[in-house]
Amino acid sequence: MSFSEKLLGLAQTVQAEVFAHFAAIDETAKINTKRVLDAFAAHRLSDSHFAGTTGYGYDDAGREVLERVFADLMGTEDALVRLQFVNGTHAIACALFGALSPGQTLVSALGAPYDTLLHTVGRDEHEPGSLRQLGVSYAEIPVLPDGGPDEAAIFAAVRDPQVGAVLIQRSRGYSQRPALSMEQIARLTDGIKRANPSAAVVVDNCYGEFVEVREPGHVGADLIAGSLIKNPGGGLALSGGYIAGRRELVEKAAARLTAPGIGGACGATLGQNRTLFQGLFLAPHVTAQALKTAVFCAGMLEKLGYSVSPAASAPRYDIIQTVSFGAPAPLLRFCRGIQKGAPVDSFATPEPWAMPGYDDPVIMAAGAFVQGASIELSCDAPMRPPYTAYLQGGLTFEAGFWGILTACQAILEDEA
Ligand SMILES: *Cc1c(COP(=O)(O)O)cnc(C)c1O
Repeated sequence: MSFSEKLLGLAQTVQAEVFAHFAAIDETAKINTKRVLDAFAAHRLSDSHFAGTTGYGYDDAGREVLERVFADLMGTEDALVRLQFVNGTHAIACALFGALSPGQTLVSALGAPYDTLLHTVGRDEHEPGSLRQLGVSYAEIPVLPDGGPDEAAIFAAVRDPQVGAVLIQRSRGYSQRPALSMEQIARLTDGIKRANPSAAVVVDNCYGEFVEVREPGHVGADLIAGSLIKNPGGGLALSGGYIAGRRELVEKAAARLTAPGIGGACGATLGQNRTLFQGLFLAPHVTAQALKTAVFCAGMLEKLGYSVSPAASAPRYDIIQTVSFGAPAPLLRFCRGIQKGAPVDSFATPEPWAMPGYDDPVIMAAGAFVQGASIELSCDAPMRPPYTAYLQGGLTFEAGFWGILTACQAILEDEA
């Protein structure tokens, strides 16, 4: 792969422009790495913790240390970090099923939750296994025109004593609204607690971990959940998810993950403890690599005349970058370029395809070492106006740089 002089020049200009932003990202990674080291030291992480268990997985000392470390890092009392969570959706679903009882209401504070969670809520009371089918009601507070939280409407809605949990999605997910800063999550949590002290604040933390130096547990969230093949797995975790929060709520969620009476006491780690610890050790750094890749992507695509969010110069509260292409052709070329620049399956040509849970065909570019790991450079887009690509990840900025350049070249070649 060789690149035009014009593109390489543009890349140099962008890198010079985002220099200060990169330095700030590195500083955050440095502070978060210290938090990880401090937690490992406080819980006396040792080689013996890497041994792990099979079968039922009783008394897995490594798993227990990993969960105490995670609780510290997330600012919570307790945590459940398990390979048995099949993905982030599963972890968030367990959190919600644990926190809510029939007759209560779930309030989604920032419009609709992430696409895959729509089925956890239930489109109606007949959706098998959903919260609605169990007798949990659901209300959704639309975001303001600027994409921010409608605090007055949220606080008014949660005053209802039937409200058992309030879901806050930290990242933008597949929406065009900006991600929430920890400052905003603190304000929301505070206001919700004042309006209804018994409602659990549940944060979908996907893509947000280690982007700032505090996590939602540090600002009062009751329960947090996310995926290990995103930020906190550091690119090494092969599967899994986590829940962190107040002990009572973590235990209720654990009863959902396994079975009542078993909870978090079982769950073999199958030789993965070392990888999970090492991934967590790398996670602040890898998150920084993904952030730099996103900032660089924004800078390049701005220069090529496309509309991006966040802007290259804007502060970041998750690792997602959107680029709106306005037409299907450049979007396809961009996604195919990302695939071409990937370390794995670079020869594959992604095609838009019908996906379960999505109304429009979706194109996905992902040449990852771990299947579906979106902490690795990847990009997906529903094929509908305004033809927006959602890009995230990048295990190293160096590989992210070449991946973005490959995608930019793919756009320009076809324009010529
Ligand atoms: C990725 C993600 C999820 C969960 O997705 P999985 O693919 O099930 O891991 C939930 N919410 C948000 C905002 C996400 O980005």
